[in-house]
Amino acid sequence: MELITGVIRGCVLHPASFSRDADGVLVMTEKMLRFISIPQRTPDKRPASERRTDFGEIYQKYQSSAASQQASRCSQCGIPFCQVHCPLGNNIPDWLRLTAEGRLEEAYQISSATNTFPEICGRICPQDRLCEGNCVIEKGFESITIGAIERYLTDTAFEQGWVTLIRPRKKLPQSIGIIGSGPAGLAAAEALLRYGYAVHVYDRHDRAGGLLIYGIPGFKLDKSVVTRRTDWLSDGGVIFHLGHDIGGTESFAALRARHDAILIATGVYRPRDISVPGVGLSGIVPALDYLIASNRKGLGDKVPEFEAGALNAAGKRVVVVGGGDTAMDCVRTAIRQGASSVTCLYRRDRANMPGSAREVANAEDEGVTFSWLAVPEAFLGGDCVRAVRAQRTRLCLADSSGRQTIEPVPGSSFNLEADLVVKALGFDAEDLPTAFGQPELGLTRWGTLRVDTHSFATTLPDTYAAGDIVRGASLVVWAIKDGRDAAEAIHRRFHYQDTRAPGLATAAE
Ligand code: FAD
Ligand code: SF4
Ligand code: SF4
Repeated sequence: MELITGVIRGCVLHPASFSRDADGVLVMTEKMLRFISIPQRTPDKRPASERRTDFGEIYQKYQSSAASQQASRCSQCGIPFCQVHCPLGNNIPDWLRLTAEGRLEEAYQISSATNTFPEICGRICPQDRLCEGNCVIEKGFESITIGAIERYLTDTAFEQGWVTLIRPRKKLPQSIGIIGSGPAGLAAAEALLRYGYAVHVYDRHDRAGGLLIYGIPGFKLDKSVVTRRTDWLSDGGVIFHLGHDIGGTESFAALRARHDAILIATGVYRPRDISVPGVGLSGIVPALDYLIASNRKGLGDKVPEFEAGALNAAGKRVVVVGGGDTAMDCVRTAIRQGASSVTCLYRRDRANMPGSAREVANAEDEGVTFSWLAVPEAFLGGDCVRAVRAQRTRLCLADSSGRQTIEPVPGSSFNLEADLVVKALGFDAEDLPTAFGQPELGLTRWGTLRVDTHSFATTLPDTYAAGDIVRGASLVVWAIKDGRDAAEAIHRRFHYQDTRAPGLATAAE
């Protein structure tokens, strides 16, 4: 047989992918590898003029023909870099092939085998930095739309009734208490429930979901997608104790005495501040207070600070300070609340912004102005902020972390009028040893919990930790990965009596 091998940007096309038709013309018979003939098509995006006015998700779901067509563009790489760069190691080529072949239920089964919440990751992972950004056909042909297909599969699975309740084969005698119902706590809860443990999740909020419910706005992740999952876990047997503030209304020691093991998955919530004159003026608010108020309002709660205007951008000139995902969520929330102008002030340039490039583009489409290379020098006003005095910066040599440092440009000050300033400069961990009354709880030099990298054990016996409280502010997909891994480590501890390092955290800081 004639050997026909094509090499397109690193993808070796197998000879079996081709045959000749009756006229001897070479045609492609392989269902996959269609990136040559089918252009990339992302799911339809609502026009900016429409989405500026509501908090509905901006991307529509794929039609089934579009999902299978887009999946068929995959070149089924022998070494799939998409999978290598997915923190969960999702078996992407296999579920893309099954989607292309119309075998959706099997595709869903494979996708959900490694990811507890594929429909959530499909919506909010920064795919341009993870799976899709490393797809080998990215250059010139545009990557496979992995996230949108992942979302499509699980949304379809819910619609078709393929997502069944967890039914463990046997019940195990131990009970595990999880503090925090964010993605790390929920992913661990799911895995522990499958093993057969009694699982209790405690959260100080009145709704489960952590930042999925109260941090990330509905235009990125509809709240019904989160409650569909928390209801599913609750129906499967996870017992939620909401409104339980551990270290506040309830002591850590009491919780510890009630369960055989504890998993701490409390996230990081202490906002970083700006130390410039005027920072105490009213009208300058932390990002999470602002976003929580907006999310609560959207969920139908009464929010006095919103009604009184303190956490509502309607009619105001808004300046958001910061350049990460949180800042992007704030600027886009302000647009939807009817701000008269929204400016994002960021100390580096567009190329060095930590926020996802896709979200920056969406924000620009919706009417946000970016003031790159600028930092606040002072906040001006009487009782209430009236303007931000900012100064231009320039990028200098990289420091030991590899990131370019910045320095102010002398004589470059300028004023930005503002009635509401939102500080979105990132988060640090709360002082958990003090809050929990457990001084033996070991910390890293960054104030996050110190855990053994193999067992996820903290320095307290039978106490484990996962998610942002270990990593520092990170991503949902990493929280899911940690939650799953911590659950496995807890299972090893009880089922196989693997006592390597519990209570002896050794992780490098
Ligand atoms: P969290 O989600 O923070 O959950 C911790 C839970 O613990 C909370 O429910 C909290 O109430 C509870 N808790 C804390 N202390 C106690 C206590 N003492 N007692 C009881 N309960 C307690 N990541 C992405 O991948 N994509 C995005 O688009 C994205 N956007 C983001 C937008 C914003 C505004 C923010 C702030 C973060 C965003 N992230 C995003 C990051 C992502 O949300 C986090 O990395 C992830 O939620 C961490 O999960 P976690 O379970 O560790 O903690
Ligand atoms: Fe990509 Fe995130 Fe899905 Fe992994 S979990 S395949 S990184 S969207
Ligand atoms: Fe290769 Fe991209 Fe397909 Fe992954 S999605 S297997 S990197 S072509």
